[in-house]
Amino acid sequence: MTVDIQPIRGMNDVLPAQIGAWQRLEDCARELLASYGYEEIRVPVVEHTALFKRAIGEYTDVVEKEMYTFCDQGGESLTLRPEATAGIMRALISNGMLRGQRHKLWCVGPMFRHERPQKGRYRQFNQIDVEAVGVPGPDVDAELIALTTRLWRRLGIERVRLEINSLGTPESRRAYREKLVGYFRAHEGALDADSRRRLEGNPLRILDSKNPEMRAVVAGAPLLTDHLDPESREHFDALCAALTSIGIPFQINPRLVRGLDYYSRTVFEWITDALGSQDAVCSGGRYDGLIAQLGGEPTPGIGFAMGVERVVELLLQAGQAPAARAADVYVVVSGARATAAGIGLVERLRDELPARRFDLNLGGGNFKAQFRRADRSGAALALILGDDELARGVAGVKPLRNEAGQSECPLPELAAAIEAALAGAAAPAE
Ligand code: ATP
Ligand code: MG
Repeated sequence: MTVDIQPIRGMNDVLPAQIGAWQRLEDCARELLASYGYEEIRVPVVEHTALFKRAIGEYTDVVEKEMYTFCDQGGESLTLRPEATAGIMRALISNGMLRGQRHKLWCVGPMFRHERPQKGRYRQFNQIDVEAVGVPGPDVDAELIALTTRLWRRLGIERVRLEINSLGTPESRRAYREKLVGYFRAHEGALDADSRRRLEGNPLRILDSKNPEMRAVVAGAPLLTDHLDPESREHFDALCAALTSIGIPFQINPRLVRGLDYYSRTVFEWITDALGSQDAVCSGGRYDGLIAQLGGEPTPGIGFAMGVERVVELLLQAGQAPAARAADVYVVVSGARATAAGIGLVERLRDELPARRFDLNLGGGNFKAQFRRADRSGAALALILGDDELARGVAGVKPLRNEAGQSECPLPELAAAIEAALAGAAAPAE
């Protein structure tokens, strides 16, 4: 029987040639989040299916058709996480971390949704997920948005814009919901099958429909913004004022409802015009009822998730992905004794110059072959150690990217000579 060595549709390898942009985004986010006081948390990629059903909501695309759910050997129904918030809230509850405390947390990792794969939409994709738990806002709402704004700036990403909205409280949503059901019932003929099913379960989801044929009927629907309770209105106005005072441009989109059920009050989305129809790069909102709904003590929270693949694509398009870093020094070894001694020499140099990248020639080869590898490695410098050099206690030092000739250096002084030669190699030609 042959093994199918094709990857699973919608699940991608990230190859070394692409990793620079991923690392740039992750490094930048890690540093920025730390500077805002966020701590990293790591939670399992698998949870009880019931957790996601309860947190995300039964009448959502994710729970209805996108979850990777299976029974394990013990007969338990488990699900590969489609998003991170539910697992993080579960972790706060099961580790007894709430008790009136505040937590600012983030994580990065793969999420799984059985969607139709296309550019920017995958079945395994990665999110940077950020959560602030225990503060009712709107100050933290504004700060979270400011954090994302700063991230775009640091990454050199310009083609993004911010949309915000308020979903009010569950109570104000109930009143609105009735208006909405009335409206959609009057237009039932214009609804697709999904929307007709949601009319009973969760009519707000209809506003989030991705079906272009639904656009007209959705556009005519009553606005949630017109039915906000006074506290939510105040919260939203304060958020808008804070964003304005920081100088962050935004658009209020009264149709922005977000795909998951747990949001309340503030919701926001960063949209790009650079990625075709997969235009959301970072989405979030407040989920004041979620923790209580999962059985924890009632605690407000807000968070967002950023689609790593989509942001990486923006980095590539903006020419902001760093080139792979080449080796600094390629070490050419020839002769039995020099080959045996070479590894010890390079280990010593690695002790002395921990920031430098050494590429030791492995697996032998004549000088010509080794210099070909040295050239391909991109190294600025070759170090040459043959039996003859070893016997005399020296090594050859040869710049590979300029016309400077080869010199010889006593082995104990090699580290200094390498630094000097690399500085010379980096200097602009006279
Ligand atoms: P979309 O409207 O594109 O389906 P969503 O509302 O389902 O997104 P969220 O669940 O809020 O997205 O996830 C947050 C972010 O994760 C999105 O803004 C997007 O950047 C990214 N994302 C979501 N689903 C996928 C996917 N299947 N492949 C790649 N990225 C995704
Ligand atoms: Mg989606």
